[in-house]
Amino acid sequence: MKNLELAKVLNQIADLLEIKEENPFRIRAYRKAAQNLEDISSEDLEKLVREDRLTEIPGIGHDLALKTKEFLSTGKIKLHQDLLKKTPAGFLELIAVPGVGPKTAKLLSEKLKIKDINQLERYAAAHKIAGLPGLKEKTEENIVKGIEFLKRTRERTPLAVAYYTANHVVAQLKKISGVNKISPAGSLRRMKETVRDIDILVTSVHPKKVMDGFVNLSLVQEVLAHGVTKASIRSSEGIQIDLRVVEPSSFGAALAYFTGSKEHNIKLRKMAVKKGLKINEYGVFRVKSGRKIAGKTESGIYEIFGLPFIPPEMREDLGEIEAGLKGKLPGLIEMGNIKGDLHVHSDYSDGADSVEDIARACQKMGYQYVAICDHSQSLSIARGLSPKELSKKIDRIKKLNKKLKKIRVLVGTEVDILGDGSLDYKDEILKQLDFVIAAIHTGFKQTEKQLTDRTVKAMKNRYVHAIAHPTGRLMEVRDAYKIDLEKIFKVARDTNTALEINAFPARLDLNDRACQRAKENGVRLVISTDSHTISQLNNMFFGVSVAKRGWLEKKDILNTLPLEKFFKAIKHR
Ligand SMILES: [Zn+2]
Ligand SMILES: [Zn+2]
Repeated sequence: MKNLELAKVLNQIADLLEIKEENPFRIRAYRKAAQNLEDISSEDLEKLVREDRLTEIPGIGHDLALKTKEFLSTGKIKLHQDLLKKTPAGFLELIAVPGVGPKTAKLLSEKLKIKDINQLERYAAAHKIAGLPGLKEKTEENIVKGIEFLKRTRERTPLAVAYYTANHVVAQLKKISGVNKISPAGSLRRMKETVRDIDILVTSVHPKKVMDGFVNLSLVQEVLAHGVTKASIRSSEGIQIDLRVVEPSSFGAALAYFTGSKEHNIKLRKMAVKKGLKINEYGVFRVKSGRKIAGKTESGIYEIFGLPFIPPEMREDLGEIEAGLKGKLPGLIEMGNIKGDLHVHSDYSDGADSVEDIARACQKMGYQYVAICDHSQSLSIARGLSPKELSKKIDRIKKLNKKLKKIRVLVGTEVDILGDGSLDYKDEILKQLDFVIAAIHTGFKQTEKQLTDRTVKAMKNRYVHAIAHPTGRLMEVRDAYKIDLEKIFKVARDTNTALEINAFPARLDLNDRACQRAKENGVRLVISTDSHTISQLNNMFFGVSVAKRGWLEKKDILNTLPLEKFFKAIKHR
């Protein structure tokens, strides 16, 4: 968790240096380091310090390693504190608005004395921003949109951040003696793509010890409540975490109750009433006698209703109870079903690691294959490959495959779908590759028809096997672009083009509901991580969660197939 906290501080340093118009290289170095820390958010920084391996993190040189140590031992960085002292009030709040960079924020705070977002919103509504030197009407429009976006996304935390925070808290609490059962509940346990707060349930013979330990964890910023069986804190990341101690005989009931969803639980309650039962967070009871008939385990509760255990990811009252009653719940895909990752960037383009290191890491994960899909030529910002570089890469990977025995590297590309729907490489090049994914990275502001047509045209190319991140959304940055998904599904099915569930935590694209619609339309999917570092390969887990929420089974996902079968199943040429 420290990784994300430190990344935030480094990003702020970059912002603060930017208003001082400091050396752009220095600014970029801080941003790059922050980005890399976010990428390795699951790794233990303190452990890296102990092993003297900090400088192995890309972008962390000698100076930043010192600052990292300073942050870990004092919780602060002096440079950051000094810069903050010299910064006008509210400045950081202003640059949090998408569309407001450090320069604009400086202008707004100096010329209009704007100190917070509410003030900014009022000025924008009164059209007092356009007309400032260098600020156009368009900037004002973007600021209005940015404020709306920020207000909407601020209330919720992205799944991956909440997930790692909860894991950290659970691991810390397990160290306290007397903690028996422990589990996150709530929308986090349902693996919703964003969560409002984190709920954790424990059973313990020493509730007081657990509560005291919880409110004293190092990530606690503020204690909101501290009772005998319930405590709430706000973490340094700004997430509220509620901890409840429950009786072992009620653990299952509490888990079901606090996992929700509300809609799912309402339906169970209605079924209980019909059977003369009462269900709550303590158990299932006969109304007449008050006798408790279930509560220790969740499966025990579902059993009372004649239901199999319903996976938390499905508990949204979207037909799962009806399907369960008929014995028709799908057998959801599991992490262990995945046989390979199909979208990984290497150091040939903007990835951090060599193909060989990636291949060995994938082998360790138990995969049989990995497709290295670097960017294509027009995406120069991501160091896309020229045709010449690509053919060199093909040769090298062929040689590498002879050396690697247990895993097969597929030569691929993430080819850009250009503005008119044509592809960034000619067919003669694409046909030499094992796996081709096509993606839109530019022109998000086109009309729905244009964006849909571009994607359709790409799918009709006989060499394109899959469409990456089909809606382009990037959580906390931008919404999905306008695209006619129903049409995309039909063409995907007709051309046997797979659609990707991009497992990168800010993308999760397609999302759960789109996955379900895709399946209903007979579309096959792939789950890929879009990794740019080896540690990001672990994000596969979040992609599998999206698939589970979309009711997908092993047979719906192409990269659950062993290599030979996979090659037979993908688009034929
Ligand atoms: Zn991409
Ligand atoms: Zn990519």
